Amino acid sequence: MIELIGNNWPAFAGLFGLCIGSFLNVVIHRLPKMMEREWHEQCLELHGRESENAPPLNLSQPRSRCPACGHQISALENIPVISYLFLRGRCSACGDRISLRYPFIELMTGGISAFAAGHFGFGWAAVGALILLWALITLAAIDYDTQLLPDSITLPLLWIGLAFNLNGTMTNLSSAVLGAMVGYLALWSVFWAFKLATGKEGMGYGDFKLLAALGAWLGWQMLPAIILLSSIVGAVTGISLIVFAQHGRNNPIPFGPYLAAAGVIVLFWGQELTRTYLGLLG
Ligand SMILES: [Zn+2]
Repeated sequence: MIELIGNNWPAFAGLFGLCIGSFLNVVIHRLPKMMEREWHEQCLELHGRESENAPPLNLSQPRSRCPACGHQISALENIPVISYLFLRGRCSACGDRISLRYPFIELMTGGISAFAAGHFGFGWAAVGALILLWALITLAAIDYDTQLLPDSITLPLLWIGLAFNLNGTMTNLSSAVLGAMVGYLALWSVFWAFKLATGKEGMGYGDFKLLAALGAWLGWQMLPAIILLSSIVGAVTGISLIVFAQHGRNNPIPFGPYLAAAGVIVLFWGQELTRTYLGLLG
């Protein structure tokens, strides 16, 4: 079995990634709703009121339904990408359009998983890379939708990163621990400096935790490249949003997707990038 997977590793990782992408769609869609419900319950409890007996909402319950008509999606209609093509992008019951985002997330997860398998070869480094990539895709999408980076993803991601680096899978242990510390404290200091200077909050605690997690996986040496890349992409996107889409200057633009994208680039090409800019500095 292991041999079979090893011999067809990128293809296997790609197919497996497609299915994981389908699961990530569920997490992206439901986790914010689960968090909202939890906060609501806590508020009720705080005010000494009975909690409402709402039907269960978690990652496995209830079964997925069409948001337009409530049609329960069958197993056959839930095959990554294939079902979307087969249904021609429409609900089989009411004909309402299914968001292109579902097959997009599935294809992206499958593609990037196959690429990571090819890039890292068959072994623990690839397994780690897959976990990191899947978490980053989920975090970027949730932050884009809701401006939240759930602790239930960022914190385990940080600890799993440290665990993978106990015997130096991605970087050595001291680089990983320093990466987590510096990653958190760097953005934490920027946050407080900005807040003390302007009275505004420029980013959220989720961003610190995400950068800490990236530091734990990739090592402190990669943090400058991650911050530089995410700021450049973020600034370019932010300015074009303000100029072209009349996005209010005071509307927060989530930083998480840029951090996640920078994390992906650095995961694959961090060594080359660092060498290049260290070379430029002389
Ligand atoms: Zn429907």
